[in-house]
Amino acid sequence: LIDITDIRRDFPLGNEIVHVLKGIDLQIDKGEYVAIMGPSGSGKSTLMNLLGCLDTPTSGTYILNNRDVSAMTDDELAEVRNKEIGFVFQTFNLLPRTTALDNVALPMVYAGYSKPERHKRAEEVLQDVGLADRMDHKPNQLSGGQRQRVAVGRALVNKPSIILADEPTGNLDSKTSVEIMSLFDAIHAAGNTVILVTHEEDIAEHAHRVIRLRDGLIESDVRRTVEV
Ligand code: ATP
Ligand code: MG
Repeated sequence: LIDITDIRRDFPLGNEIVHVLKGIDLQIDKGEYVAIMGPSGSGKSTLMNLLGCLDTPTSGTYILNNRDVSAMTDDELAEVRNKEIGFVFQTFNLLPRTTALDNVALPMVYAGYSKPERHKRAEEVLQDVGLADRMDHKPNQLSGGQRQRVAVGRALVNKPSIILADEPTGNLDSKTSVEIMSLFDAIHAAGNTVILVTHEEDIAEHAHRVIRLRDGLIESDVRRTVEV
């Protein structure tokens, strides 16, 4: 599904260039459940943005579903992003004046679905994330955990091949974090590929594989054997 070879990402900073990712090789198969950990500043978000096609590498190749996305134009990338990637952010990033239903349906607007199709699918997804009774609420009428459920619903609505989440529980209390993690567990159990960033070991334990970054490189990559 994901095949990354020697990815580097530099950023200009004043007169200098900072090397943030210094040569990452990474393969992730369909259906994996991966946690990315590592100290602040180690490059986790930079890597997630590349995986999510929100950014392109300075060098190296990224093959997603057998297509080289590292060589794509912005328009082509936007299309891949919309069809194949569901991204969940730490700060939810919902449209504030828009209902839960319309927030979830938004990616379907870009994908060209009709309004009845969008509403039918968004209702279905909101049901799946446990918000059947909150469809017409706006973000400020929802709790943090409910907002994150809306964001997860929005990430799922176009049936992407990968769900990416950058510290999805970073702004939630521990009880709400557990609820959101059961949602990611269910999404994974339904056959989806889930990749998330977290600082917390007990969140990372949900994943079947833990990748640790340090200073722009992969320090360790450990698969956990799951008891059956
Ligand atoms: P955190 O755990 O704090 O979220 P992180 O591992 O996600 O950290 P990144 O956000 O990937 O870290 O940033 C890694 C490094 O890259 C940081 O030193 C940061 O300052 C630098 N960086 C990230 N984006 C840019 C940018 N657009 N321009 C310049 N430097 C950047
Ligand atoms: Mg980060």
